[in-house]
Amino acid sequence: MHSNPTLKILLIEDSSSHATLFKLSLDKALNTPHEIDHAHSLTESFQLLATNSYNIVVIDLGLPESFGLDTVNRFFAEAGPDHAVIVLTASDEEGIGEEALRMGTLDFLVKGRYGADHLARCIRHSLERWRQRNELEQAREDLKSFAHAAAHDLRSPVTSISAYASILQDNLDTDIIGEENKEFLDQIVFLADQAERLTTALLNFSVLGNKALVRSNIDPKVVAQHSVADLPMEFEESMARIKIDDLPEVNADPDLLEHVFQNLIGNGIKYRSQSAPEIHISGTRVHHEVIFSVSDNGVGIDPKLKDKVFEPFKRLPSAGASDGFGLGLAICQRIVEAHQGRIWVDSTEGTGSIFRFSIPAAQANAPTLVGEVELDPALN
Ligand code: ADP
Repeated sequence: MHSNPTLKILLIEDSSSHATLFKLSLDKALNTPHEIDHAHSLTESFQLLATNSYNIVVIDLGLPESFGLDTVNRFFAEAGPDHAVIVLTASDEEGIGEEALRMGTLDFLVKGRYGADHLARCIRHSLERWRQRNELEQAREDLKSFAHAAAHDLRSPVTSISAYASILQDNLDTDIIGEENKEFLDQIVFLADQAERLTTALLNFSVLGNKALVRSNIDPKVVAQHSVADLPMEFEESMARIKIDDLPEVNADPDLLEHVFQNLIGNGIKYRSQSAPEIHISGTRVHHEVIFSVSDNGVGIDPKLKDKVFEPFKRLPSAGASDGFGLGLAICQRIVEAHQGRIWVDSTEGTGSIFRFSIPAAQANAPTLVGEVELDPALN
């Protein structure tokens, strides 16, 4: 006979009487084998999660050490996103349950208003939603691997075509092949170069977006300064003034964070207006994250299109003849989201843009990476 595996539930609830009520309701209505572990605080739950795996985590939003949506934030920041979470709210007056859903939880229950059957149904539905979410995630992963393999395998022949075409362009005299053939050859060189840059951008998109994070506590100012030092040559010639404030420490992968700064600063210079580019990087700690802002005085973005710019291959008419492929911001978004952060832009056409993104603040017990960058006074 085939027996059902035991469903493991972690309940994070500071009130023992509520926890008892929860267990009684579940025992009454859930007719599959189940086990409930009870943590009284987030800290205790992290200890349990370190040695156990659970099918469902139920979190009361009002805990002694955190309250409301901050509890969800803290849970995902410390435990990671791979948990099927249901939240218990004290009331639903401010749409807090829906907001918790947007943050990645599967369902919410209003305390004192759910009965045993409702609770059991909520658990079953959440498990099904979690299964579907994982299936979708797997399909996305397969697609990413495919994109990676395609970009990787195309890069080598495309690079060779570009190199051979350049040799032909250098070796063949217009007198021998004629004006028209020379133009065809120039066109082949131009297109092969474009294809090479595109496959490189695609490879970056798949590699950087999927790279395993190597996180530590870091000073983002040092990282931002590195990214300025590594800007391509043409940006140096733009006479851009780049101001970097002192920034609160974050817990992040320094290589990936550098990539985000470099992309945003590079775009601030690339999409400049008539005036010399002025870029300002600042950051403020808000609860458990740091919100960075990278502002520029460039051409700006039509507010109606401000979410579109993060889509892969999306370029706006304002991009003009610049040679991008619309992948830079999509990569930034992937990197920021891999850190459980968000990225967005505020802009008015003609007066510049402010890109903002959040990254978890430095954590008490995480290792600290000490930067060894040479400080350039011009960057301050
Ligand atoms: P690209 O390689 O085209 O620069 P991105 O993903 O970095 O790709 O940017 C997508 C589009 O968003 C750009 O083509 C441009 O239209 C717009 N954009 C990005 N950053 C800025 C900016 N700082 N100012 C104005 N427009 C921008």
